[in-house]
Amino acid sequence: MDRANDICFAAEVTLGKLAKWLRILGFDTLYEPDVTGIGFVDDRVKSRILLTRTERIRDGNTTQKLLFIKSNNPFDQLREVISALGIVPKETQPFSRCIRCNTRIKRVDKESVRGMVPDYIWETHATFHTCSICRRIYWSGSHTKRNHDIIQRLFDS
Ligand SMILES: [Zn+2]
Repeated sequence: MDRANDICFAAEVTLGKLAKWLRILGFDTLYEPDVTGIGFVDDRVKSRILLTRTERIRDGNTTQKLLFIKSNNPFDQLREVISALGIVPKETQPFSRCIRCNTRIKRVDKESVRGMVPDYIWETHATFHTCSICRRIYWSGSHTKRNHDIIQRLFDS
């Protein structure tokens, strides 16, 4: 079952790095400054799991699916989410989503990005993806080895 398509999040403003990492793992993650206003939750958030570090939001919540994040460290925060939802590696789709705007990226013809990425990148990579909304271009090297290592460590117990 492809639960990665069903699990989606809205992260409050204090959780920018966590939101970025959830996108790297392929999860649909809304991250905008005002998903949680004073005493209410934005309509767009209602179908999503709200990630919050704000006790007032947690305590005032009765209907919203919500996960209260305890850690200050983004990596530990990510582990909190993974563990709370019981996410396993095969449910992730790393590097399938635009980190900047959350859109699913699409593979494009190599020829179509010539001149839009540095020449040495174009010459040494076979596969390119782009975001149809913000036009950012991705290639395999745009995610560093460090990111791969972090994903590996994420699921180590
Ligand atoms: Zn984008």
